[in-house]
Parts: sequence; C-alpha cells; structure tokens
Amino acid sequence: MILRRRRYSSYTSSYRRRRRLSFGTVLRVVLVLAVLAVIVFAGYMVRKALLSDQVIAGLESQNQALQQQVDELSAIVPDVQFAQSMQEQTLSYQSLYPEMQVEPTPSFAAPAANTVYLTFDDGPSKNTATVLDALKAANQKATFFVIGKNIAGNEALLKRMVDEGHTIGIHTYSHDYNAIYTSVEAYLEDFHQTYQAIYNACGVYPTIFRFPGGSVNSYSRGVYQQIIAELLRRGFVYYDWSVSSEDATGTRYTAAHITRAVTEGVPKVEIPIVLLHDGVEKKTTAQALPGILSSLTQTGYTCAPLTNTVKPVTFNYAE
Ligand SMILES: [Zn+2]
Repeated sequence: MILRRRRYSSYTSSYRRRRRLSFGTVLRVVLVLAVLAVIVFAGYMVRKALLSDQVIAGLESQNQALQQQVDELSAIVPDVQFAQSMQEQTLSYQSLYPEMQVEPTPSFAAPAANTVYLTFDDGPSKNTATVLDALKAANQKATFFVIGKNIAGNEALLKRMVDEGHTIGIHTYSHDYNAIYTSVEAYLEDFHQTYQAIYNACGVYPTIFRFPGGSVNSYSRGVYQQIIAELLRRGFVYYDWSVSSEDATGTRYTAAHITRAVTEGVPKVEIPIVLLHDGVEKKTTAQALPGILSSLTQTGYTCAPLTNTVKPVTFNYAE
C-alpha cells in the first residue's frame, strides 16, 4: 500500500516534475524566441534606418547635382539667346547682295622694302585731276578710296585712275557716320551702292575698302566687329593707315607742313600706308603732292597701289 502509495506518490511527483520541466522548457523556448525576435526586429530597424539614410543621402546628392545643372543652364541661357539672335542677324544680312563677293585673298604679302602706299580719301573731287597729274609726272601709283555720291559726273576720273594703274577702293556712298554705322544692314546697303557705282563708272569691281573715320571710331563702336566680320567673309580687305599727312585736321596746314608730316612719318613705320585727302577743300594736299613724291623717290621709296594681297594695316580693336 505504502509502496503503491509511494509508487503512486512517486508517479505523481514524477508527473509533476515532468510537468514543471516541460513548463520551464516552454518558458525558456518562448524567452529565447522572444529574445531572437527582439534581435531580429532590432536588426531590421537598424538596417532600415541605415538604408533610408543612404537613400536620403543619395537623393540629396542627386538633388545637388540637378540644382548645379539648373544653375549652370540658367547662367548660359542669356549667352545662348544672344548667340541665337546673333546667328539670326548674321543669317539675315549674309543673304543680302549675294553677288557682292570677292575671291578671297589666299595669303597676304609683306610689301617690298621701301614701298609706300599713298591713299587719297573722299574723292573724286575738283582736285583729283591735279593729284593724278602729279602721280603721272612722277610715275608713281596710289590708291583712291572714293565716296560713291561723288562719282556721278566724275566717271572719267575713275576711268583715268584705272587706266593709269591706280587702285580704287570703297569709302562708302554717303560718308554719313550717323547713317552708315547704325547697323550692319545700313553699312552693307551703302557699301553695295558704292560697289556698283564704281563698277558702272570704270568697269572694275573694287576689292578693298576704308572705313570713314577708320575701322574703330566712336560712331561704329556698337557694330564695327559685325561689319568687319561680314565684309571679310565676303572677301573684302580693309586698310586703316600708319602715317597721317595731317591734312584732315581742323587747322589748315600748309603744303610744307603736310609734306613734312609724310616724309618724316614714312621711315618710322614698317608698312607705310599714308592717309591723304582728295576733296574740294584739300587744295594744299594736291599742291604738296609733287614735293612729297620727289622727296620720297629721292630717298629710295617707290609709291605702289594697294591691292587686296598687301598685308593690311589695321587699328587695334581693344577698347
Ligand atoms: Zn573720309
């Protein structure tokens, strides 16, 4: 009985122990699972946080790159618009007077030593014949940058210039600074008028030109670069000057003064291109010419006409 009870009791205690054991095991398993779950969850949260940080950092850097591109584009937009408007302008005047083209000069030649280029602006005039006579007498050549509006009635003078071996260049039709320098189109229209008038008078198309006031002056400041670019594109060559005879200044200089300005100025420059004038009021220039020619030729100089192969003398564009 005792045994049975004991057995019973033993059975009962064993049963209780097993029950306690299994309860503890379950509790431990649950605890372990809970800890594992917390670890996994914490790992997940940390990973998520790290990932979102990376994503945010990536997005921020993308945003910065985009903003930089936007800033760069905004900065160049005005330039692009300006370039486009220039292109449109250029295209519009490039198509004007398509026949007004010159065979481009393949290469410019430095002049032979002791060569002088005498240039007469603003003719033809009442004094042109006197100038031509003096050149003929000395057997020297020169260049005439003529004004288109002065040609009518003086066609014979232009023919004579060509026949006697001189060069005719364009010095605009109107010589009106306020009109010609208003736009490229205005300059081209005036230039074309002169181009045609010269051809009609003497049968030769000019290939060189000189700007009234020189290539850089206060009137042409806004447009001279485009005018120069367009005329160079068409093959024309322009010449400023390296020696002034001072006959264009307000003071009326004597023939002796003009002669001295030329003969003293010529040896000082590498390519002597001398500015003289052929106008109604420039009698003293015509009077000075025989003395200038004899002085130059006696010191070993030869006066030659400009052609579009002579290396140009041009003013600086720096402003
Ligand atoms: Zn002039």
